[in-house]
Amino acid sequence: MQAFEATSHYFDQAAKLLDLSDNIRTLLITPDREVRVEVVIEMDSGQIGNFIGYRVQHDNSRGPFKGGLRYHPKVDEDEARSLASLMTWKTALVDIPFGGAKGGINCDPTKLSKAEIERLTRKFTEKIHDIVGPVKDIPAPDMGTDAQVMAWIMNEYGKYAGFTPAVVTGKPVELHGSAGREAATGYGVAIVTREMLSRMGRSVGGSTVAIQGFGNVGSFTAKFLAKEGAKVVAVSDAYGALRNPEGIDVEALARHVSSVRKVVGFEGAQPMPAEDLLKSDVDVLVPAALGGVFDKAGAEAVRAKLIVEAANGPTWPEADEVFNARGIPVIPDILANAGGVIVSYFEWVQNLQNFRWPLEQVQREEEKKLTDAFHDIYDLAERKKISMRTAAFYRAIARVGRAHALAGI
Ligand code: NAD
Repeated sequence: MQAFEATSHYFDQAAKLLDLSDNIRTLLITPDREVRVEVVIEMDSGQIGNFIGYRVQHDNSRGPFKGGLRYHPKVDEDEARSLASLMTWKTALVDIPFGGAKGGINCDPTKLSKAEIERLTRKFTEKIHDIVGPVKDIPAPDMGTDAQVMAWIMNEYGKYAGFTPAVVTGKPVELHGSAGREAATGYGVAIVTREMLSRMGRSVGGSTVAIQGFGNVGSFTAKFLAKEGAKVVAVSDAYGALRNPEGIDVEALARHVSSVRKVVGFEGAQPMPAEDLLKSDVDVLVPAALGGVFDKAGAEAVRAKLIVEAANGPTWPEADEVFNARGIPVIPDILANAGGVIVSYFEWVQNLQNFRWPLEQVQREEEKKLTDAFHDIYDLAERKKISMRTAAFYRAIARVGRAHALAGI
C-alpha cells in the first residue's frame, strides 16, 4: 500500500457513514491539479544538478489551496498526493477558509549548501509561480524547509507579482511572518495532548513522553509538554536516539541540536537503539518525523497509553486496526498537528491586513480553535462509537461536501 491509498482508506471509512454517492466520493478524493517540474540548478562544484519538484492541489472548495513544501529524498507524486488530501481534511476539520495542497522537491537538503538550497528554491518558485498566490495556493514549511526557504519564495514570487507576503506562510517574523508560527505545530500538539489526557482522567504533569523526531515539530512539542510538567524520557532523530528515565532537559537538548544538528552526543541522556523508541513504555508516544512508521507488527509492539500523531500519516491502516482493537487511543494527524496551519491562517490574515498580532493573541486564538475542534471530535467519536480518526474525517468530509454542494459543479 502507498501513502495516498492509506489516506483514501481513512477517507472511505468515514465516507461510508455519510452515505456519499460514488460520484461525490470520486470528486472529493481526486486531486484537482498535479504539477511535476524539473528544477535544474548549478551546484557549488560547477556541475549541473537536476531535481524533480511537485505541487499537488487537492481541493479548493472552501478557500485557496494550502499546504507545506517538503525537501526530502522520499518526496514523490504519491506522497504529495496523500499529504495534499490530508490538508483538505485538516483545514476543514479546524474550520479555516482553505483547501488542501502539498509539494516539495526530491532532494537531500542535508547534503546541499545553503546557496544550493536557495538556488533550488528560487528555480522551483519560477516553475510554479503561476499556480501559487495569496488567493490561489499558499505554501508553508514542512520537513526540510523553514522560514528562510519561505523568505526566498516570497522574494522570488515578488519579482512576478510585486510585494505579496501572503503568497507563503511560515516566513521569518522580521519579514512578515507571524509571532508564534515557528512553534505553532508543537504548541498545538501539546494542547491536544493535554486535553486528551484530561479526558482520560490524567494530566500532563508527571506523564512520561517519547518523541520520534526532534526537528521543528518534535522539539517544540517536547518544550511545551516539559513546561507543563511532563517527563520527556526518550527522543530520536535521523541519526540516533536517546533516553533518560529521569526526564531529558529539553531546553539543553535543543541548544545541543542547534549547534551540532543531531541529538546524538548530548550528555544529559544515554544512547538507545533508534528502533526501540516507538516501543517505549510511556504514557504518551509522539511520532514527529516521517509518515508510515507504524505497520502491524510495530503497532503490536507499542506500549504507550496514548498516541499523538504530530507527523503526517505515521500510521498504516493495518496498524490503525491494531490500535483500535487494543484500545490505544490515537489523536489523528489532521487534528494533532493542525496548529501549524491554524497559525498559517493567522499569518495570511495579518499579511492581507498589513497588521500584526501579538504572540498572546496568536496563541490564545490557536488554543481556542484547537480545543473546540478536539472536544467536538472526541464527543462525536464517543457518540457514534467510532475512532477519533474516523470522527475527524467524518466532520471534515461533511464540510467539504457541503461546500461543493452549495457552490455547484
Ligand atoms: P523537520 O525537518 O524540522 O524535522 C524532522 C525531524 O525528523 C528531524 O529531527 C529529523 O532528523 C527526524 N527524522 C527524519 N528521519 C527520521 C527517522 N527515520 N527516525 C527518527 N527521526 C527522523 O520537520 P518538521 O517540520 O518537524 O516535520 C515533522 C513532521 O511533522 C512531518 O511529518 C511533517 O509533515 C509534520 N508537520 C509539520 C508541520 C510544520 O509546521 N512544520 C505542520 C504539520 C505537520
